[in-house]
Amino acid sequence: MKNIIPVILLKELVILPNQEIKIELYNKISKRIIKNAIDSNGKVLVVAPLDKNEEDPSVDDLPKVGVVAKVKNRIQLSSGNIRVTLRGINRVIVKKYATSELDDNILISEVENADLPKYDEVEEKAVRRKLIDILKEYINSSDNISNSILTTVNSSKDLNKVTDIITSFLPFNTAKKLEYMQNINPINRAKRLINDINEEIRLNRLDDEIDDIINEKLAEENRKFILKEKVNVIKSELGEISIHEQTANEFKEKVEKLNINSASKEKILQEINKFAILNDNSPEIGVYHSYLDWIINLPWNKYSKDTTNIQKVRSILDQSHYGLDDIKQRIIEYVQIKKNNSTINSPIICLVGPPGVGKTSIAMSIANALNKKFYKISVGGLNDSAELTGHRKTYLGANPGKIIQGLRKCKVKNPLFLIDEVDKMLRDNKGDPASTLLEILDPTQNKYFTDNYIEEPFDISKIFFILTANTINDIPETILDRVEVINLNSYTIFEKKDIAVKYILPRVYDEFKIKPVKFTDDVLYYVIKHYTNEAGVRDLERVLSALTRKIIINDINKLTVKKVNELLGKPKYVDEQITLDKTGIVNNLAVSSYGGIISKMESVKFKGNGKITITGSVGEVMKETIDVALSYLRSEYDINASNMDIHLHFPAIHVKKDGPSAGVGIATSILSLIEKKKIPQDIAFTGELSLNGQILRIGGLKEKLIAAYNNDINVVYIPSSNSQDLEDIPKYILDKLEIRCVNDYKQIYTKIFK
Ligand code: ADP
Repeated sequence: MKNIIPVILLKELVILPNQEIKIELYNKISKRIIKNAIDSNGKVLVVAPLDKNEEDPSVDDLPKVGVVAKVKNRIQLSSGNIRVTLRGINRVIVKKYATSELDDNILISEVENADLPKYDEVEEKAVRRKLIDILKEYINSSDNISNSILTTVNSSKDLNKVTDIITSFLPFNTAKKLEYMQNINPINRAKRLINDINEEIRLNRLDDEIDDIINEKLAEENRKFILKEKVNVIKSELGEISIHEQTANEFKEKVEKLNINSASKEKILQEINKFAILNDNSPEIGVYHSYLDWIINLPWNKYSKDTTNIQKVRSILDQSHYGLDDIKQRIIEYVQIKKNNSTINSPIICLVGPPGVGKTSIAMSIANALNKKFYKISVGGLNDSAELTGHRKTYLGANPGKIIQGLRKCKVKNPLFLIDEVDKMLRDNKGDPASTLLEILDPTQNKYFTDNYIEEPFDISKIFFILTANTINDIPETILDRVEVINLNSYTIFEKKDIAVKYILPRVYDEFKIKPVKFTDDVLYYVIKHYTNEAGVRDLERVLSALTRKIIINDINKLTVKKVNELLGKPKYVDEQITLDKTGIVNNLAVSSYGGIISKMESVKFKGNGKITITGSVGEVMKETIDVALSYLRSEYDINASNMDIHLHFPAIHVKKDGPSAGVGIATSILSLIEKKKIPQDIAFTGELSLNGQILRIGGLKEKLIAAYNNDINVVYIPSSNSQDLEDIPKYILDKLEIRCVNDYKQIYTKIFK
């Protein structure tokens, strides 16, 4: 049976077997051919005239070999054209071209499959290996070809197919591709490919060499000249003047005015030149435009004037915040020194303390007092350094990092940046933001800080950095080395009351534009104790604001505890501590995320055989602490525990408890059972116990003592090795508490049980 197939002539395109091309057809004949093809079995013969300059090729101008393609897809476009996808199937010998009997505008062909010549298998293997080797070399030498083609090529054993796939990938012109199309013998094609690819490799190398030579040798002036020439050539080719040339000129004027070093200026001007010669439709226009917009809007040389008036600084800080003397004093010192030496670097301060104690707001107040712009960057949960230093502008949707963004927003080079939550940065495969932050803070490096997007060095050494963290333990060591740590502690209930009276309530009145409401101290203590549970005063601020709103709405004159209950609903926090006075009940001091707390424990003993039970969400370290306490007591006090069981319980089961500092309290609780002696409930304990009864140093002393002070404790046992920490404890706390420093458990035993 004769194989009759409609012919489609493509002048500038050659399709090879296994290749897919998309073409748009606009004349009626082409459309009819495609329709015809689809009506039969979807096949067309694709051929290119041998002489592409021939306007009206005759049958003799058509090649005797062609590729049969299948019409895979046909889309009717709104322009009236149709877009078809053709997939090359195989080479055929064209026996005859003729006009269709049904439509004399349509060319048809009679074709037969092109038989592959027989070839030597060893030769095929050798050629194939050589071809793949040279292809690899070519891919390495070229920037434009992805090596994904190697996967395709390697997965096929068929040399016929492999040569066609490679040919369709290479940047050959139509004439050359036509030659490959007409060449039926795969071995011959492969050998030619080896030669041609070799040539391409040489061309690539030559290209690189020429580029290198040009780059090296052309003087800056020369390069500018060539760039300008290029611009002119392109413009004359297009016959038009680019509409963004105007913008480019404006950018140039602005950059010329920027007070930046000449190397940077030169590079930015080059970028503008690249921008100017872009085609109006180029997708790169947007990229360059926003890049240049960033560059000219950075405060390359703008500064705000710092306040040097010490009284003024002090009074602004005092007006906004109660206490916080350490940080206020440090700022005053800085202003004082800066007055004498204006070139002095600003300190890098790290404020450490629980939430709500004023870290963020005092930093804002410092900016205000020093007349600095303020910008906050939160690095909590950050795992990607690019957040700080930006992405290269070639990335889709790239932007500068937070540092540059902040500078643009502040419009000056010397703002105050708050870097929040440096103890919560993450480190994973995306990067290590801590080391990036280190470079940002390091005065020897940050003069030349280079954001990936901006690419030019920008001096960030004039930024006043303040960092914040909740706990010092989780601040990366390297950062800790660079900063001055200033601790902000939880507030005592009395401080909270004072902050409410002097700061929070006046702010609330001011906000609501109302006359002061009469809050008695008792009402305030009640609110603090029963409607908040925090180290700082953030919730207190919210509750007092809500309460004031309700007072206004309900027109209340006299505020009593009962009224507070009516307005705020039933108390949220009721003291659920154990209030019984029994043996085994002991107060331990602990530190939670809200600051210091009293953590009660209880123990009981009963007839049994030496079993120990522990309950109350206790962690591994705490379990070991219990074991140590028990062994110490057994060895030191000759306790016969074989005929009794002991149960230790740490109430508030929903709260996880861990750490070694309850050791002393645990031992005291068990001894209280054995000695049948109750422990006074105004005593609290903190101290790690060693196996031989030595009492070891603990952390968080200040927070713990504040908790003791807030909870009517009178006597606190602490390790002697912590005694020098007492210097940091406010006097009014030390005045109220009797602190007993001990280094051996026997001292406690003597005091309590003898
Ligand atoms: P942090 O950053 O430590 O979590 P914030 O600075 O956000 O805490 O403080 C929470 C709220 O408490 C703010 O509104 C702040 O004004 C107020 N505040 C905290 N400490 C004080 C203080 N010493 N004096 C006055 N207000 C304070």
